[in-house]
Amino acid sequence: MKFTPKKPYLLGETLESLTERMTLAGYPAFRAAQIMDWVYKKFVTDPAAMTNLPKELQAWLTETFTIIATQRVLIKGDPDTTQKLLLKLEDGSLIETVLIKAPDFNDPNDKFRKTVCISTQVGCAYGCKFCASGIAGWKRDLHAGEIVAQIFEIIKLEGGKPTDEGHALPFDNIVVMGMGEPLANFENLMRALGNLNAEWGFKFGARRITVSTSGVVPRIKELAEMPVQFRLAISLHGATNDIRSQIMPVNKKYPLEELIPAARYYNSKHNRMITFEYILIDELNDTYEQADALVKICQGKDSYGENAAPMKVHINCIPYNKVEGLPWKRPSIMRQQAFVKRLKEGGLSVTIRHEKGHKIEAACGQLRLQAERDGGMIEKVEKKA
Ligand code: SAH
Ligand code: SF4
Repeated sequence: MKFTPKKPYLLGETLESLTERMTLAGYPAFRAAQIMDWVYKKFVTDPAAMTNLPKELQAWLTETFTIIATQRVLIKGDPDTTQKLLLKLEDGSLIETVLIKAPDFNDPNDKFRKTVCISTQVGCAYGCKFCASGIAGWKRDLHAGEIVAQIFEIIKLEGGKPTDEGHALPFDNIVVMGMGEPLANFENLMRALGNLNAEWGFKFGARRITVSTSGVVPRIKELAEMPVQFRLAISLHGATNDIRSQIMPVNKKYPLEELIPAARYYNSKHNRMITFEYILIDELNDTYEQADALVKICQGKDSYGENAAPMKVHINCIPYNKVEGLPWKRPSIMRQQAFVKRLKEGGLSVTIRHEKGHKIEAACGQLRLQAERDGGMIEKVEKKA
């Protein structure tokens, strides 16, 4: 479904596009830079509070744009661990944005970090068999302004302290792992991430932004070609076509013999670690057979790239989060540990996302699903473990 906003979203504008609009409306170009400065460096989104703008320009901004595309409907969770925001868009659609506060397992000092998880679509067309976002199908793509607005919702929640350099955002990382398949909404995603990354924008480092994909091969290659250094995570969830196709329909279109070379290509272009996300589902993909196949892929000994070098890859195992109405089960702790041990014995870098403290992290889409099913909220408030 195509959705056209009543007015353009200010947060979807680039400095260039805003300058162009303003020039057409008869304003000098420096005014666009002033507006971006208020928005991205001072976190001020109310035109009336942009005190160095003439009153008439403040009124023009209000008339011309919708400033913030989102409206907070609900917060769930615990401010010390994980909070989920349910946000309503102009057309009544619901999306989720999550703020996760957790130790960083990749950091030797286990430093506490704050990560924002953003959505890129309303629903998802990819229909993975374990995922709440895929259940009701795809409704529409988010506009760039709706993607950026999620960051402002987090700033509102956490109270960021702006500085002249614009470095004081109240979080450390952004992961594009919420509802939707980001690489299926590529243009809006790139525009939004561009605003976060730009000198005139948040100046938020691309290396602190992770894009997660279920494996849209042509877009992975495109991303690999781009000079900007986003981190890439691939939702693998199966190490053979047989298993992966059972739970991820996208594997029929882009099977492992295409996906794995694309991941290797990204590695070769960026010389950086990528991540394989691997949900553990009981007696489906948590077998030794799958673990051994995964080791082969990562070590370059599989048939998807003869004589390939070992990949620069980290495996993030995620015990499956129960979704109402879906048949899968989370494996026992013993099975989870056995799987991880097998991967480590194969020489892989592996972490397992523990349940405590960030229980709702991996289950984006569930809050919206429940809200839409019930017309009210039933998700229990997560307690600090
Ligand atoms: N569409 C993208 C990004 C959104 S999904 C992708 O698939 O990568 C973000 C992550 O949450 C993916 O790794 C996805 O597989 C995982 N996920 C979805 N449902 C889950 C569930 N019920 N339990 C655990 N992880 C889940
Ligand atoms: Fe879509 Fe990702 Fe969920 Fe698959 S896991 S249905 S690609 S959001």
